[in-house]
Amino acid sequence: MDYISTRGSAPTLDFRAATLAGLASDGGLYVPAKWPQMSADEIRALAGLDYAETAVRVMRPFVEGVLTEDELRGLCRAAYGRFSHDAVTPLVQLDHRHWLLELFHGPTLAFKDVALQLLGQLFEKFLAGGDTNITIVGATSGDTGSAAIEAVAGREHIQIFMLHPEGRVSDVQRRQMTTVLAPNVHNIAIDGSFDDAQAMVKRLFGDEEARGQVTLSAVNSINWARLMAQVVYYFYAAVRLGGPDRPIAFSVPTGNFGDVFAGYVAAQMGLPIAKLVVATNVNDILHRALTRGDYSAGTVTATATPSMDIQVSSNFERLLFDLAGRDGAAITGMMGEFDTNRAMTIPADMLAGARELFSSASIDGDAMALALRWAQEHGGQIIDPHSAVGLAAARALDIDADIPVVTLATAHPAKFREAVERATGVRPPLPARLGNLFDREERYTRLPGDYDAVKAFVLAEAARG
Ligand SMILES: *Cc1c(COP(=O)(O)O)cnc(C)c1O
Repeated sequence: MDYISTRGSAPTLDFRAATLAGLASDGGLYVPAKWPQMSADEIRALAGLDYAETAVRVMRPFVEGVLTEDELRGLCRAAYGRFSHDAVTPLVQLDHRHWLLELFHGPTLAFKDVALQLLGQLFEKFLAGGDTNITIVGATSGDTGSAAIEAVAGREHIQIFMLHPEGRVSDVQRRQMTTVLAPNVHNIAIDGSFDDAQAMVKRLFGDEEARGQVTLSAVNSINWARLMAQVVYYFYAAVRLGGPDRPIAFSVPTGNFGDVFAGYVAAQMGLPIAKLVVATNVNDILHRALTRGDYSAGTVTATATPSMDIQVSSNFERLLFDLAGRDGAAITGMMGEFDTNRAMTIPADMLAGARELFSSASIDGDAMALALRWAQEHGGQIIDPHSAVGLAAARALDIDADIPVVTLATAHPAKFREAVERATGVRPPLPARLGNLFDREERYTRLPGDYDAVKAFVLAEAARG
């Protein structure tokens, strides 16, 4: 499979190079040159398979030419063997038509493990035996950091530097990062906000001097391999509910548009999906875009669902690329306009195309809390606030009553104990597999909110690596 950039002028890459590159050199995002197809018979044949084998069948066309099927199988078995539930992503029934797809049984209790555990395996495979060392640098407001660290801790040829805003992530989130003591893991607490940390990371990626000394790599959801891994659970869930002989709707708590874009990919591959619901909190640029064509960035409002508190959704560009007939020049123009004005209008024909598959809802704090209580009272489930945003949108969806609606449960409730307790009166216990998180030694470096200090630290530690 070849990978092309959404902006049309970066070189075409194979799967290995696209995975290691992250962002394309023309500022675009890599997508497969065409969507592979699965016939109804091939989808039906997934019904009895376990998660790892389903993953092999769904992902093999995307890695063709770079990994053999057996190599892919080995990586999938290793990645998904680290999940605490044998089904990896089990379905839980809430009422006669609503289901939860639990994506939080990985090592850090958030859905990001599903993709990052595989990405860690892919990085190691691609770098093994060579003399390339990569330096992963990222900023996190919580979930991404710990999932990325767990995925690459102790791996050869990889150093990871994760910046978090000091005092502004929860104790659980911080300890999930700082108690990983592998020598290739470098946690940095920045004096400043998440946006300050993010700005420093972006500056480093554009810094010629830094790029001359280290091979920088990104693990955020612009990385194609992450999206690819997320396509799998749409198939896994659908065949368990009667797919492909019955269409299924999915509701997806959305921030950067990565998870729900994976659902779009599943639909392009041939999975019958009745609707994909883009569920946002009050930071609703995507809801405005999908209802009125108004794609304009505002200021971020802090909510009980911090992993969805975003201004712009990077992966939306991948959908726009398809809606524009895969015209890279058109996307370069649109994104250029957006970068200048922080706003653009989505043309009516593209909007109509999007609305054939997508619908959307913006869910405020009250509606989120109501959904949390509904899951508790009607389905006997304590869910997390992000999943509750998805469930609220799922319950508001106007669709044929015989279509099952699956809400993606993106985090374990114990990760957001305070908000869950406020809504339900129940304080979810930390799962046993986090063990003695609060007794373990922490290790991290405090740095001032100063770019030169961060850069000097990263380059010095990477050179020692
Ligand atoms: C990252 C995250 C999301 C948003 O996913 P996107 O792929 O960015 O849309 C939703 N819920 C939780 C718990 C997350 O960690």
